Amino acid sequence: MRRIRRVKIIATLGPASSDRAVVAKLFAAGADVFRINMSHADHAGMRERIAMIRSLEEELGRPIGILVDLQGPKLRIGKFGEGKAIVETGATFTLDSDAKPGDATRVHLPHPEILRALRPGHTVLIDDGRLRVKVVDATPERAVTQVLVGGLFSDRKGVSLPDTTIPVSAMTPKDRADLEAVLPEGVDWIALSFVQRPEDVEEVKAIAAGRARVLAKIEKPQAIERLDEIIEVSDALMVARGDLGVELPIQQVPGLQKRITRKARRLGKPVVVATQMLESMITAPVPTRAEVSDVATAVFEGADAVMLSAESAAGQYPVEAVTMMSRIGDEVERDSVYRSIIDAQRGRSASLAVNEADAIAMATRDIAETLECKSICAWTSSGSTAFLIARERPMAPILALTPFRETARRLTLAWGVHPIVTKDASDVDDMVQRAAKWSNREAFSKPGDRIIVVAGVPFGSSGTTNMVRIAFTGAES
Ligand code: PEP
Repeated sequence: MRRIRRVKIIATLGPASSDRAVVAKLFAAGADVFRINMSHADHAGMRERIAMIRSLEEELGRPIGILVDLQGPKLRIGKFGEGKAIVETGATFTLDSDAKPGDATRVHLPHPEILRALRPGHTVLIDDGRLRVKVVDATPERAVTQVLVGGLFSDRKGVSLPDTTIPVSAMTPKDRADLEAVLPEGVDWIALSFVQRPEDVEEVKAIAAGRARVLAKIEKPQAIERLDEIIEVSDALMVARGDLGVELPIQQVPGLQKRITRKARRLGKPVVVATQMLESMITAPVPTRAEVSDVATAVFEGADAVMLSAESAAGQYPVEAVTMMSRIGDEVERDSVYRSIIDAQRGRSASLAVNEADAIAMATRDIAETLECKSICAWTSSGSTAFLIARERPMAPILALTPFRETARRLTLAWGVHPIVTKDASDVDDMVQRAAKWSNREAFSKPGDRIIVVAGVPFGSSGTTNMVRIAFTGAES
């Protein structure tokens, strides 16, 4: 099965997409990667979903990506005596370490490390930013606040801290347990929520130890401040616009989306744009014009993937949402202005150190364009050759040929890459002949067409991209 679309689609699984037939339909409609959100899945449910996707993959004969999203430190206030309390704007309200039920003057904040980190002047957002208080006095036991935007405070509402660096790792004990349970199941990407520093990503990478790649969700102002360092250590990025729009003024999200996407593209790290992309399709069979435009913007920016959350996990129209996203991707990529917009943000940059592999990737794109090659066939063991070529956003489709199933699955997230699992090439002739055969078989070229083949020699050693061959696909292919 061959898709023409370059941008990839991630569909979150949930109650609306828990049975195999629906997941098969989501894949047929265009989903390339499935996301399992550990905020809503238990270990048994997670294992069941992974097994189902792997059996589907076997049946369909195409690699399918699995991304497991760790919940991260989701902070919440405690409970109220009556389940809720009305707190007036301008009133004084205290967050404290006392576990007794709250009222209109105070509530328990069951996170001692947060109480210790709050300082006068810090803003605390409650209930997705609907309520806003400012700290006027702080001790390790209590933070006295002035209510800037009051209203109904109720039990266990979420807390966001835009000004406070949380002095703990992005991984909670639940995340650690989830990670330990997930890694042996064979997943491709682990998404880490509420990343603040590069060390947060490095910690997960050390635990994953190569068993899965790590994607950093950018959703905190602290991560924006250290964006370059975080991109450097991450395998991929997500513009997690839901929490980003709570922790930062919502009007800053579009500009940040562009900044994060551009920086990630320059460094060749896959970047995902997520949240509320087709939100109205949770309850309606067609999206709004603004939502279509939002998905189109991410595609024009050259994001590697666009993501559906509740639309595919809990909505009434999961298959229609994936179909719509796929149609938008196809249409944008055919638009006459698409190429010029994509090229304006091309990966190459004078400020980046360039090695042999970078140079080969850049040259490959130029050769493919000059000679109008029908496909770029990249032999790759770790996936790095294919990721590097994807960074160049070439016009020709990229076939990634790899002997490793895990590599093929990871590449399902990369822009424009069509991964294929096949035994490793034995020599240069075999490499060219089999690349040509696959290119024709997958209908990217016809016998007699020109293709370009890229590899690292000696075969099988990763990070050695050093060879380019221009070839014609033989008539016998
Ligand atoms: C987000 O906040 O945009 C996001 C993708 O994370 P989650 O769905 O886990 O809240």
